[in-house]
Amino acid sequence: MQALRLYGPRDLRLVEEPTPVPAPGQVLLRVRSVTVCHSDIHYYHDGHIGDTHATVPLVLGHEFSAEVVSVPEGVTHIKPGDLVAVEPAVSCGHCWACIEGNPNICEYLQFSGTPPLDGALREYMSYRPEFCFALPKDMTADEGALLEPLGVALYAWDLGRLRVAETVAIVGCGPIGLLAVQLARIAGASQILAVEPLAYRRELAERWGAIALDPADDLEARVKTLTHGRGVDLVIEMAGALPAQDTASRLARRGGKVLLVGIPPEDQILMSHHVPRRKDLNIHVVRRMKHTYPRAIKLVQQKMIAVMPLATHHFRLDQASEAFELVSEYRDGVLKAVITP
Ligand SMILES: [Zn+2]
Ligand SMILES: [Zn+2]
Repeated sequence: MQALRLYGPRDLRLVEEPTPVPAPGQVLLRVRSVTVCHSDIHYYHDGHIGDTHATVPLVLGHEFSAEVVSVPEGVTHIKPGDLVAVEPAVSCGHCWACIEGNPNICEYLQFSGTPPLDGALREYMSYRPEFCFALPKDMTADEGALLEPLGVALYAWDLGRLRVAETVAIVGCGPIGLLAVQLARIAGASQILAVEPLAYRRELAERWGAIALDPADDLEARVKTLTHGRGVDLVIEMAGALPAQDTASRLARRGGKVLLVGIPPEDQILMSHHVPRRKDLNIHVVRRMKHTYPRAIKLVQQKMIAVMPLATHHFRLDQASEAFELVSEYRDGVLKAVITP
């Protein structure tokens, strides 16, 4: 089979390797759709995220769907031929965090496309069946892959605990930010402020019901006016950039909440101390997601959330370097590059 391996910064190579034989208890998957994430781009450019370094040659890709090829005896929730969305985080199921229902902070967490676990940019992979979610017949492979970023937005939304008619600001309207804008609308936010430097992304945020703001335009003053001097109840930072963290704390109201979801390449949290302190802000640094796939499937199947407008570009596996360059340069109105192995 073909696999795309990262040999070093900006060095992706298509290699021929044996089709994996499923480990005991695992399913064999034929990968159908993979969307490129900015965390893949971190590895592609720098070879690391935070203190996790890519032990090359690594297969990237963690937002994906697949067709089930074979299942081990005893597995009944999926069968050969099913199209499945795949949870990229492989938690152990046995540590105290897993037992308390928090697999996203599992002590032994592995993650597809993060060392040492190869990701989905290959034709076949062996996987634990409990992380595969069968998709309804009317859902596509690309929609299945996009359930991963939707899950990240959904988990952030869960943590925000916004009450109906409260206000929210989404700082950073990449794919996850735009999904959060859509969630805010269906969940009953009275005002959705979308902060985003790129005009084409602001336009989409507006299409989904947000008031779009350019961070270059005296942002604090505008938000103050829009919220009648009060500030925003919940601010979700989804930019993955240091200035966005500080912005998030400044836009929140006194006693408000800030969720830091983005992963900045500098591996730091940076904000003035007096701003959150004087407001008695509640700041939560978010770890991926948990318990989201079944709900994400319903949101897409029932057309409550539109994921397909995010799939702006399509590539074959042998064109993956192009996809990575496109996403990292924010060229050509890109939101998600979809790669079909
Ligand atoms: Zn991702
Ligand atoms: Zn665990």
